Amino acid sequence: MMAMALPEGISWSASGTTRLYGIMGYPIAHSLSPMMQTFAFQQQHLDCVYLPFLVAPERLAAAVAGAVALGVCGFNVTIPHKEAIMAHLDDIAPAARAIGAVNTVRVQDGKTMGYNTDGEGFLQPLHALHLPFRTTTTCMLGAGGAARAVAMALLEAGCPVLVLANRTYERAAHLVAILQGHFPQAQVRAVPLAQAAPAARQSGLLINATSVGLHDASEALVPDTCFHPDQVVYDLVYRPLYTPLLQVAQRRGATIVPGLDMLIGQGAAAFQIWTGVPFPVEAVRRLLQPFFTAAS
Ligand code: NAP
Repeated sequence: MMAMALPEGISWSASGTTRLYGIMGYPIAHSLSPMMQTFAFQQQHLDCVYLPFLVAPERLAAAVAGAVALGVCGFNVTIPHKEAIMAHLDDIAPAARAIGAVNTVRVQDGKTMGYNTDGEGFLQPLHALHLPFRTTTTCMLGAGGAARAVAMALLEAGCPVLVLANRTYERAAHLVAILQGHFPQAQVRAVPLAQAAPAARQSGLLINATSVGLHDASEALVPDTCFHPDQVVYDLVYRPLYTPLLQVAQRRGATIVPGLDMLIGQGAAAFQIWTGVPFPVEAVRRLLQPFFTAAS
């Protein structure tokens, strides 16, 4: 495979004290995290590098032990390892345990600690919009792994009403039961995706946490009339940057948040866990945006 050319502004060097970070996944070649994190380290003048690690599922335990043995300071974890990695870590943060998945590992004094930064990454752009979580009714389309992390984060932030609409109703109902166990004070309910329109229309925050929009541009999850100007519409899908759902929502006056913001947010939260240094969000957005608009 041909190496990807580095964008302007990124140069690479290492020394005997360089700290090593990376991402374990299978496949991994598509990941933009190495570019994003390396750029962020350089922006903040940190002597760190971040590499892609192609780790087959049957080598995951060996890869974690190897990373610790080599003195790797931290790593991200992506598909298909986010759940399996939990069995190979020394400790797991309570939020990650509740979500049932880890996407960030910190290694300190030879011990591994797992975190999940997807929820925090999801919330970051909404904090930037000053969304009043405690008074915002939310409707989320989808009930998969990403939806679970997002739902936990929203309820933790004080969201009072959350409707989960999923194509497979039973999956949404199962997630609702889990969420009610953690957040008994919130009103959380499930509906079949085909009956999502009323809840979507009444929501102040409408989220697409399905994978629709990724490949099939023609499929509409909810009618266009569900979108309105008093609404924030957030699509987790980040390729294309502006999905058909976001385009309709914007035409109808809603405030839109593209999935790229969450991608940057989860990376920013991991960076903060590893370094304690703020992540250069705007510079990273300028770096990444061309890769996503080119793909749209
Ligand atoms: P997942 O666990 O496989 O869940 C997929 C979800 O999409 C399920 O709710 C599934 O419904 C639904 N779905 C799939 N095809 C559908 C269709 N044709 N019509 C209606 N619903 C459909 O995947 P995930 O990990 O949750 O990821 C979901 C999306 O979020 C992906 O596009 C992923 O790239 C994106 N994501 C983005 C970020 C970010 O940083 N921006 C982070 C994580 C994930 P059923 O239950 O009925 O199958």
